[in-house]
Amino acid sequence: MVQRLESLRAAGVTHLGRVAKVAMAAPGSGRNPAPHAARVVHGARVAAKEGPGGEAPDPRAAALTEVAQRVAACTRCAVLVRNRTQTVFGTGSPHARLVFIGEAPGADEDRLGEPFIGRAGQLLTDIIVKGMKLRRQDVYILNILKCRPPENRTPLPVEAAACREYLDAQLAVIQPEFICCLGACAAQHLLGTDTSIGRLRGHMHDYQGIKVLCTYHPAYVLRNPAAKRQVWDDIQILMAEMGLPPA
Ligand code: URA
Repeated sequence: MVQRLESLRAAGVTHLGRVAKVAMAAPGSGRNPAPHAARVVHGARVAAKEGPGGEAPDPRAAALTEVAQRVAACTRCAVLVRNRTQTVFGTGSPHARLVFIGEAPGADEDRLGEPFIGRAGQLLTDIIVKGMKLRRQDVYILNILKCRPPENRTPLPVEAAACREYLDAQLAVIQPEFICCLGACAAQHLLGTDTSIGRLRGHMHDYQGIKVLCTYHPAYVLRNPAAKRQVWDDIQILMAEMGLPPA
């Protein structure tokens, strides 16, 4: 129970309120889909979170809270459940234009419940803030796996498949225009390919109407500083697609 509440707090859930039904769009159906494009997730019951002044809850924040609750209670992968301190859901704006997808939480993320806060996370923050001139809280950051794999090993395909429902639900709520996949695991799993990250990087892809840029994982860049140049080239392609001013 404590682990579950810790996971929810780290995912930005501050209180569990009354429940409401929420509509979620299919990934890539547009940021402001026409009513007919929205679908009600079967029986989705979400904890509606009112603002501090009692204003109406943000339906996307409420829908993410509902998914975070399911993730925090997930026991699909016995090995991961035994190994985790808590689940690591994701962080950022439910209205983000851009979602970064990493691989899986590491030790720091498992301890604190937030993605990308270790050394690789600092590099990602530098890319977002110093490179793209955005704020970390304006994008959304999540991982393929919501639990830390033992010894930080690469997620098994069966684990990624078990967690896919949560990734799909997050994307359906946020409806990003752009995704940046960090590393081979995220890129290959999202796009359903075994093409190497070296070949996937450097140009845009399409995932259900969402524009996707793949680049090297920040942890790889820390081990191979020469890759920094290529990551920056990739990020500039993404910035141009997003209409952001060149750095
Ligand atoms: N690496 C990842 O892929 N995700 C994190 O959250 C941290 C490190």
